[in-house]
Amino acid sequence: MAIIPEQPYIQPLNRQWYQPYVDAVDMLRLDVVHPVVSGNKWYKLKWNVAHALQDGYDKILTFGGAYSNHLVAAAATAATYNIQSVGVVKGTYAEKQWTPTLQACADYGMQLHFVSHEEYAQKETTAQLESLSEKFGAPFIIPEGGANAWGREGAAEIAAFIPEGYTHICLSVGTGTTLAGIYDGLKDAIKVWGYAPMKGGIYLQEEVQKHIEKSETKPLTIYDNWHFGGFGKSTDDHISFMNAFYEVNSIPLDMVYTGKMMFGLQQQLAQGIMPENARILCIHTGGLQGNSTIQDRLVY
Ligand SMILES: *Cc1c(COP(=O)(O)O)cnc(C)c1O
Repeated sequence: MAIIPEQPYIQPLNRQWYQPYVDAVDMLRLDVVHPVVSGNKWYKLKWNVAHALQDGYDKILTFGGAYSNHLVAAAATAATYNIQSVGVVKGTYAEKQWTPTLQACADYGMQLHFVSHEEYAQKETTAQLESLSEKFGAPFIIPEGGANAWGREGAAEIAAFIPEGYTHICLSVGTGTTLAGIYDGLKDAIKVWGYAPMKGGIYLQEEVQKHIEKSETKPLTIYDNWHFGGFGKSTDDHISFMNAFYEVNSIPLDMVYTGKMMFGLQQQLAQGIMPENARILCIHTGGLQGNSTIQDRLVY
């Protein structure tokens, strides 16, 4: 089940959707890369897996929750490169309770290892890593979210899809790996706005800054106002917003990341905080597989 990635492209949003005082709001469609592997995950994982193979590993091991875009993307990427994969899952699920995400992981050949929330919280301690390594035959361990240097290098490839002429780049941030990767690849004189989908996500500003070459003329701002109750949470307003967005632009958003970012951006535009000559590029990072829990309430 090798995945064949599609080429991302830029789609202008319908001017009806935004406050038309700005010049343009366009979207870079990484969601079209693959229906299951979120666009940004493909770039982060590809480099991790390539590195693992180069170093002679025959297996990767990584971590995620039962709805994790990262986990299923890791399973699919491993299948594509013919390397075995192990997924350490937060929480214990009997097979008949598996989420569509876990089922897809298994279908891609990933071996699932369920651990309690307490054990999961310890996953980055040396003792846990050693014990997992021993149990699964010394696999190449990729941190949750692909948050390492190879993940950032892979994400930097995304910058090549961004032509000159934009004044603002908007994207959602989970670990900040994708943002950090793209940031370094961007020319100066551009503003980079990250939207965190969890409470207190403002800490990501510092986290990202550890990994980027800071530039005075490329200011970075993280917003965490639009979390809708927390990571993975949603509200009626949020779902109506995603449906309305689809009706005007024919672009499906995911509930965890891009649905929140675009809600936030629309509010910012309504508040008039963008300059009149703004040319905004929003990055659609994918994640549509994670809509399974609200699928019956979506028009797409
Ligand atoms: C994982 C994910 C993100 C966050 O990426 P990071 O590199 O962890 O910041 C954003 N959007 C979608 C759809 C994702 O699946």
